[in-house]
Amino acid sequence: MSHIIALTNQKGGVGKTTSAVNLAASLAALDRRVLLVDLDPQGHASMGSGIDKHELDHSVLDVLLGEQPAEAVIERNSAVKFDVLPSNGDLTAAEVELLDRDKRERCLETALAGVASHYDVVLIDCPPSLNMLTVNALTAADGVLIPLQCEFYALEGLSALLDTVEQIKHSVNPELAISGILRTMYDKRTSLTREIDKQLRDYFGDALLKTTIPRNVKVAESPSHGLPVTQYARFSRGSQAYRVLAKEMIRRLSL
Ligand code: ADP
Ligand code: MG
Repeated sequence: MSHIIALTNQKGGVGKTTSAVNLAASLAALDRRVLLVDLDPQGHASMGSGIDKHELDHSVLDVLLGEQPAEAVIERNSAVKFDVLPSNGDLTAAEVELLDRDKRERCLETALAGVASHYDVVLIDCPPSLNMLTVNALTAADGVLIPLQCEFYALEGLSALLDTVEQIKHSVNPELAISGILRTMYDKRTSLTREIDKQLRDYFGDALLKTTIPRNVKVAESPSHGLPVTQYARFSRGSQAYRVLAKEMIRRLSL
């Protein structure tokens, strides 16, 4: 059975897309069948996986609107070992296009129903907002992976996200779980980091993942080559961290 994980945090720049691409690549390297769903109109997860978002005939928008089956839009790109349901700027229309639909929060769930069984893991890269796209991701998902940066404002906004998760649980997706809190761009040397670590551990307990992702220049460079860091710079600290993260997720979720 496939496990669907939404990478969500309405804050931008916390490492959602980077983690989605690199976790996808690391899970695929461990022989898991992975689909990465790009649900951000910025299309960065698609680009970072070697797909030119400007050259798409169809995108995840057509799939959400039921105009194309996911199967027909999924890219099987030979550069990476996972499949991608790509996105581009067209997806900005989704909010308006979905407005007058019945069960508009279930469009992604419905669209994935036909293909999810082909994969061990489906990762959804969410936009930096708690909009209808994110609601679709949380409705389709089994679990939420929350990347955050251990900075002063890291916890701000987290309660709005957790409230949204609770609302989705109560309304449309009772099984939704927190799959993990992932610390990105992590520097354990600072006292601020240690303080935030403590707050996160107190609040989230076991949900706080053991693996942390260090700030690493290779991680930041790899998207411009259309490759996950695990392929662009295999032996970098960033690459190693994402491999360890994949193993931790496999253990936790029995993937
Ligand atoms: P989000 O999807 O949450 O907006 P991104 O994954 O796009 O965040 O990351 C924001 C920026 O930080 C990007 O420029 C990315 O390359 C950079 N970045 C992310 N993770 C790391 C890391 N571990 N080390 C260095 N730079 C990183
Ligand atoms: Mg992003």
